Amino acid sequence: MKNNPNDYDTIIIGGGPAGSCAAAILGEYGHKVVILEREKFPRYHIGESLIPFTFQPLERIGMIPKMRKSHFVKKYSVTFVQPDGKRSQPFYFFNRYDRETIAQTWQVLRSEFDQMLLDNAREKGAEVREETTVKKLLMDGDTVVGVEATDKSGKTYELRAPITIDCTGKEAFTSNKRGWRMNDPYLNKIAVWTYYKGSKRGEGIDEGDTTVAYVPDKGWFWHIPQHDQMTSVGIVAEGKYLTRDGVKDPKEIFNREIEENQWIKRYLSEGESTGQYFVTSEYSRHSKYCAAPGLVLAGDAFAFLDPVFSSGVMLALKSGHLVGEAIHEGLVAGDLSPNRFEEYGKAIRFGVENMRKLVYAFYDPKFSFREVIKKYPEAAGEITDCLSGDVNKDFTGLWDKIREFVPLPDDLPYGEPLEAEEPAAA
Ligand code: FAD
Repeated sequence: MKNNPNDYDTIIIGGGPAGSCAAAILGEYGHKVVILEREKFPRYHIGESLIPFTFQPLERIGMIPKMRKSHFVKKYSVTFVQPDGKRSQPFYFFNRYDRETIAQTWQVLRSEFDQMLLDNAREKGAEVREETTVKKLLMDGDTVVGVEATDKSGKTYELRAPITIDCTGKEAFTSNKRGWRMNDPYLNKIAVWTYYKGSKRGEGIDEGDTTVAYVPDKGWFWHIPQHDQMTSVGIVAEGKYLTRDGVKDPKEIFNREIEENQWIKRYLSEGESTGQYFVTSEYSRHSKYCAAPGLVLAGDAFAFLDPVFSSGVMLALKSGHLVGEAIHEGLVAGDLSPNRFEEYGKAIRFGVENMRKLVYAFYDPKFSFREVIKKYPEAAGEITDCLSGDVNKDFTGLWDKIREFVPLPDDLPYGEPLEAEEPAAA
């Protein structure tokens, strides 16, 4: 344990799911770990629908009892709705998994969920400094040895550690600064969303169903029922489609698009928008490398694919989990060289690539889950596995079936080596 108050075993930039998960693991092992978080929590964040395989990292950091006690709406399924309002059979997770554990997940309010995760990290021994922004990485040659942080009074100070985790989410602090950022050549979507109070929702186990409602050839709506009769609802499509005819106002865009899906129109007609509308710029990107000397990237700061199958928080927690364990092993071994993170980087990259194939298929106008399942009934289970986030599974069989309906790229765009394998390219 370090004695100098400014020396840590690990510095984590960003207190979202990835940062809080890694901090909880390292704190629990007894390492001296600090999270530096720009905002004061609870803070707003999009990304509210969890998927079953979020269970393992949440269980690892002791969050499951807290989630069970929470008022978050329980989620058992995902359903797809055609533009004419026809619903698919829900993909119920309990058709594949244990109903008492992983098959049931949650629709969360991120301000509350992220606060719970951050408090959990504190309980496990992590120090958290909110309203603290990291502006610079401290270098010794090509090795990151700490950070320069600024607190809310404007005071700037230095903290040092043998390893820093970049968990800055879409800010992607390192990949932007080092030119590692790679945009997805096929996904260039934006989202416009709002919240409705008292709108229609399913009943019983269908209350917490995530509905994905198609907009023909253009995109889709999400419909995520939350507690207190609130529903998160948004549209995802290319920016040039949503802002066609020069319309830029998110409220105007949203209200125009509701007309494009009969189910969404009907479900929202019973409720009222909170009047607050949000918009995001293009978000699909990937860092070329996941680690460099003294540095590792986790969560969205490493990669973010697309919101359609709600995999973001699961991947962020999973990466926080894997990085936390890898750092613990490295601290014990006295070796935190980048190749310690090679397995981690490969696992997350493989998971993202798996999910990416289903995302590409989903956005192909000729693709339909129904047609694939009609020809290959066993594909229903494989698709449920992918939608549940079992992303490290070998889905070769599923991709071969889907390829009969739509092309899927063999060579995905992120086959670059990790910096761990190619240190000269820092
Ligand atoms: P974040 O949760 O973004 O946390 C990063 C933290 O870092 C923030 O708190 C930020 O304040 C802090 N930070 C940034 N820069 C600095 C700095 N320089 N210094 C200090 N602190 C800093 N995922 C799902 O699972 N389900 C969904 O339904 C879903 N829907 C989505 C819809 C849309 C439109 C989008 C764009 C994303 C959606 N996601 C969804 C993805 C999800 O939001 C992210 O994958 C998830 O939040 C990633 O967690 P993270 O910990 O990596 O980053």
